[in-house]
Amino acid sequence: MDYQALADLLFPNVTDTPETLEERFPLRSLPEGAVVTRMAPSPTGFVHLGNLVQGLTAERMAHLSGGILFLRVEDTDAKREVPGAVEVLIDTLKHYGIHFDEGATIDGDNGSYGPYRQRQRAAIYHVYAKKLVSEGMAYPCFCTEEELSAMREKQEANKETTGYYGKYAMWRDRSMEDIQAQLSAGAPWVLRFRSTGSIENQFKFDDLVKGKLTITENDVDHVLLKSDGIPTYHFAHAVDDHLMRTTHVVRGDEWLPTLPFHIQLFKALGFRLPKYVHIGPLMKMDGTSKRKLSKRKDPELALTFYKAEGFPVEAVYEYIMTLLNSNYEDWRRANPTADATTFKFSPKKLNPAGNLFDYAKLTDVSKNEIAKMDAATVYEKLTEWAKEFDPDFASKLVADPDFAKAILAIGRGGKKPRKDLATWKEAKPYMGFFYDDYLESPVFDEKFDKATIIDVLERFLASFDMADDSAAWFDKVKAITEAIGFTTDMKAYKADPTAYKGTVADVSTFIRLAVTGKTNSPDLYTVMQILGCQRTKARIQSTIAALS
Ligand code: GLU
Repeated sequence: MDYQALADLLFPNVTDTPETLEERFPLRSLPEGAVVTRMAPSPTGFVHLGNLVQGLTAERMAHLSGGILFLRVEDTDAKREVPGAVEVLIDTLKHYGIHFDEGATIDGDNGSYGPYRQRQRAAIYHVYAKKLVSEGMAYPCFCTEEELSAMREKQEANKETTGYYGKYAMWRDRSMEDIQAQLSAGAPWVLRFRSTGSIENQFKFDDLVKGKLTITENDVDHVLLKSDGIPTYHFAHAVDDHLMRTTHVVRGDEWLPTLPFHIQLFKALGFRLPKYVHIGPLMKMDGTSKRKLSKRKDPELALTFYKAEGFPVEAVYEYIMTLLNSNYEDWRRANPTADATTFKFSPKKLNPAGNLFDYAKLTDVSKNEIAKMDAATVYEKLTEWAKEFDPDFASKLVADPDFAKAILAIGRGGKKPRKDLATWKEAKPYMGFFYDDYLESPVFDEKFDKATIIDVLERFLASFDMADDSAAWFDKVKAITEAIGFTTDMKAYKADPTAYKGTVADVSTFIRLAVTGKTNSPDLYTVMQILGCQRTKARIQSTIAALS
């Protein structure tokens, strides 16, 4: 077989050569040890937590080493592509602070190793396809769907491994005449790799996460180019990561089964193999067993979920770091205020089996992160979230920033800041009562008669003075308690509850309910100071009116 003639026949329009491409995309001049890596997602419109886990791993490896992180859009599967998905992808990753030094952007490409969208690289793949054909390492296959499924059925019936290999590789050694006949009849074809591997052979391979692996050679003649001339993932991976000068491939471990083929392909193409960082899946507890997070069952797999719930980016970032590197939490305890990017992240610390995603833990981390922020920061982030997800609440926050910041300052700062909020979504239930529109009508415990409650509220109103400090304010509450036959002596009450009509806690609850509509609120004295004299009094008065 004249392989060069076959190559010319299949790819008559390819004029570039591997050499011209090597020149066009020269080796990068970067410091020793610099990691060049990438995120290479498919634009399906769904950005998930796994993307972020991989993205952060890649980002840390690149930027801690003085290297480059780029974004390549793997849009070879046009069927799966959703309009606008690239924008969603770029925006979402940006939202989580993944900074790309080069690659696809919303307005096009940034960088000199592009194009960074695979569909725009067809001509480049064809250069290498032609080269492989000319060297006898790839060939056209004209099998129809029917022939392929007949083959599969036969293999299944014989209990053999399914696939296009060995004696099943129908077009592997066909003559030039057969090929020409099909081509002139206009039959569609795919380009297949001519594998010389054998499943009898194994070799050792080192993965940065999985460690030492024993790999069995690939004997399948996998597809390189589909019938529309667009490459498969495998071929595009080899060509792109070579020409873009990737040193480390960070990707999900669902690619491990095809790694033997990838290794083979890099060798056939004369490319230096990058290092691989295969990341295990994210799992969750389902009852007593672990399972992979699923797009269908688990809304918390989508990154949009965290944005809509209002988890601050800092919290998600912090939590993922604790998942990725087991020593991160210790480091954080020792360096509570340090910038997370100064942590010495290592891919070697990733759990090879993947990670258990723990929503409760994320919530805890988030409470801590929000507790660390000052009121102005919380105000800013909360408002930004509310503008998108709760515009009515946003309009209230914006109408009086000082009021909102005073509320958000409650219990903030100091050694033991309050941890009231895990998400921005929780802010309205927590502080909404400060706004008259969100104030709920109080529901009092029926064991107290209305007259007693009214009595307490009227006495409180009569003695209320905004100038009181919190001690003086509470002395007045205690005085009312004693005056109406309730007790301030909680011990005595516990010893004999029948001796009293109630306690100072009950009296406080009446006042709290009247002012906040809730039985639970931040420190009541502080709440009143923020609400101001008029609003506090008005609320008590309207509660009295409603009870009367
Ligand atoms: N497009 C592939 C995916 O989304 C990329 C895998 C890789 O990073 O090489 O799974």
